[in-house]
Amino acid sequence: MARIAFIGLGNMGLPMARNLLKAGYTVSGFDLVQAVVTQLASEGARAATSARDAAQDADAVISMLPAGRQVEDLYLGEDGLLAALPAGRLVLDCSTIAPATARRVHRAAAAHGVAMLDAPVSGGTAGAASGSLTFMVGGATVTLEKARPILAAMGRNIFHAGFESAGQLAKLCNNLLLAVQMIGTAEAMALGTRCGLDADVLAEIMRQSSGGNWVLERYNPWPGVQANSPASHGYQPGFMAGLMAKDLGLVQETALQAGAATPMGSLALNLYRLLLQQGLGGQDFSAVQKLFIDQQ
Ligand code: NAD
Repeated sequence: MARIAFIGLGNMGLPMARNLLKAGYTVSGFDLVQAVVTQLASEGARAATSARDAAQDADAVISMLPAGRQVEDLYLGEDGLLAALPAGRLVLDCSTIAPATARRVHRAAAAHGVAMLDAPVSGGTAGAASGSLTFMVGGATVTLEKARPILAAMGRNIFHAGFESAGQLAKLCNNLLLAVQMIGTAEAMALGTRCGLDADVLAEIMRQSSGGNWVLERYNPWPGVQANSPASHGYQPGFMAGLMAKDLGLVQETALQAGAATPMGSLALNLYRLLLQQGLGGQDFSAVQKLFIDQQ
């Protein structure tokens, strides 16, 4: 069974690493936050003191970091892992980052003889905990087949999106659509309740009608409608609004480079920026609901 170094044990990484342990993998975990490293160690992992320490002897490295800056630092920085990894090792970056950054890391990995996939995920923290994530993979088919058992320990659907960085491109398209669905749902919930409709009744009508969508099914932004949603728990993340704003920024960057029009994405980015300006970037992305509710 392969030995895995897991770098980035946050809202997503920690439950993903747990599922690798459950599947019988030997895991070394590293994060800048010591508490989560200690937590994973108490569940059977080795607590690493640095990313390089985690990666020594590892057959595969998985990274689940906030953004491209951290991913570039990890692999290409001064103490970068790619320079230290022996040829033939496997690198899976599951963070959501710019396709252009992913391509830079892919190129450097290839130059070091390291096989790499960009493998961002969908499914949120619930999917990470239950091992039912969707992986969107970019890179060589042969590398995907090598990585498949590892990905299968953390997810249910594994899609080969195509060439290097194709996973990131698919992920950005998905999150553009998710943001638009979230904002539209929040707007409709606010209008209906302002006009006197019961929030539960409205949510159920829309869920079962032509407005039905993933947000209404699993992630209603109106507090109290779904017992398990972040909205019903003070908008604790979940998926932070700041990360959604980052993804929507990447959507605009990508659209600009591709000459594509993404007006809904641009509006969504600006609404999330307003939320961040209110100091709510650390709350769940469903807190965009607050832009539509009177705050007095
Ligand atoms: P998070 O902020 O909860 O976790 C990131 C972790 O990385 C933190 O624990 C942080 O301390 C650690 N970290 C940062 N720099 C580091 C470094 N140099 N070395 C080691 N550890 C470092 O974020 P998250 O919600 O787990 O998201 C991670 C990635 O997954 C992001 O790219 C996000 O866009 C994507 N994502 C998140 C969700 C979700 O629902 N939360 C869903 C899909 C994709």
